[in-house]
Amino acid sequence: MRVSVIGTGYVGLVSGVCLAEKGHDVICVDADARKIEQICAGVPPIFERGLEPLLRKHIGSRLQATTDLPRAVLETEISLIAVGTPFAGTQIDLRFVKEVARAIGQALREKHRYHAVIVKSTVVPGTTDKTVLPILEQASGKRAGADFGVGMNPEFLTEGEAINDFMNPDRIVLGGIDERTIASLEQLYSAFDEVEKLHTNSTTAEMIKYASNALLATMISFSNELANLGAALGDIDVVDVMRGVHLSNYLSVRMPDGTREAPGITSFLAAGCGFGGSCLPKDVKALIAHGRQVDVPMHLLESVIQINEHQPQKVISLLKKHYPCLSDVPVAVLGLSFRPDTNDMRESPAIPILRALAAEGAVITAYDPAAFEEARVLFRGDSVRVCEKLDDTIADAKAIVLVTRWEDFRALPELLGKRHPQPVFIDGRRMLPKSSFERYEGIGL
Ligand code: NAD
Repeated sequence: MRVSVIGTGYVGLVSGVCLAEKGHDVICVDADARKIEQICAGVPPIFERGLEPLLRKHIGSRLQATTDLPRAVLETEISLIAVGTPFAGTQIDLRFVKEVARAIGQALREKHRYHAVIVKSTVVPGTTDKTVLPILEQASGKRAGADFGVGMNPEFLTEGEAINDFMNPDRIVLGGIDERTIASLEQLYSAFDEVEKLHTNSTTAEMIKYASNALLATMISFSNELANLGAALGDIDVVDVMRGVHLSNYLSVRMPDGTREAPGITSFLAAGCGFGGSCLPKDVKALIAHGRQVDVPMHLLESVIQINEHQPQKVISLLKKHYPCLSDVPVAVLGLSFRPDTNDMRESPAIPILRALAAEGAVITAYDPAAFEEARVLFRGDSVRVCEKLDDTIADAKAIVLVTRWEDFRALPELLGKRHPQPVFIDGRRMLPKSSFERYEGIGL
């Protein structure tokens, strides 16, 4: 199938490259000419494991990249909209989606064959039918359903695992205004023949994405609330509490040989310094705002966000048990991306932690295995020294704060083993054993 993907960020570029790997002819489009130049040169503008070899394999053959959106629409049968949908303070910002819908609509004016337009961006329920569809009709002068199809196909990939998630999805949700649109989507995903495909209308497809993210966010804040209570009560370790919860038959399947199969969901029932990233915080906020617009206050999700916004501060409180005054105290912050295996720092809990430390006058070094450039840009001119190596970062530190669960940090006990006295170690993710450190503090301990 000939496919155009509009927006070449985490979702668009990964989708484009993977669809090419599945045998489609793909044109990736972005408004950012620099990104397109990089992609054409086989250099991914983002860090994502496994992306570069696939990009190099297909670019110039089954995969093209361009800034020319009309050409991409005219030369393909289906367009996926994969631009950003940030939260703009009081509601979702659909500016980029609308812009692209208008541009696709204008291109459709010149097109005489059927074309399906599919929203892949995460958009609040109703957006595809009530916002994108009318823009397409107006800009094209044509009728949805008769001349072109409109649908919604949410993306569930996780950054850091994006290629594997796209190539081996857990589900494929296909929403559309009519059977012809769904048939185009079925053709697009025909190579994924072992995956369950759910057919819905577009609004339900949109809601499935929000429901999924809201559930994960809720589980994290639930775990953090219990961790904070356990820490206040004393003699309770939230890691053991959660292990006990995971052992429920509802949460982990007991195999015939007596072992347990722990499903991925249990990894969200774990305490830490909060969730971040380009999806969970903004999506939960957008859903709350959307609920408010139809007079349905979402009290549970409001609390989920509130708990999450306080959680980075817990790390600072643990640090202050050892250094009540942080002025001039050398503190190393490890892990800046919002989760391991990505360079994405959007809404990372590292940001409020670094800002709080800077406000207290700490002497800050920071390190991340992938987000070096992003951190340098974000903290340019600030009092944060972003280092290129882990050992340089911790060399003079009196305190170390672990924010992101990068596997590289498993080397810390050995790196610190020879130091006396050791810096105090604040484990914001309960990643490393307390017994490996002289002075250890952890969330929910
Ligand atoms: P991103 O910000 O990384 O990428 C968006 C891209 O769209 C950018 O490259 C930008 O230059 C481009 N763009 C903006 N306006 C454009 C225009 N008019 N024409 C062409 N290109 C344009 O965003 P992302 O993280 O890939 O997310 C995209 C969507 O997918 C969002 O709605 C997000 O919520 C959703 N989503 C993201 C993830 C994730 O893990 N990042 C997972 C699932 C769903």
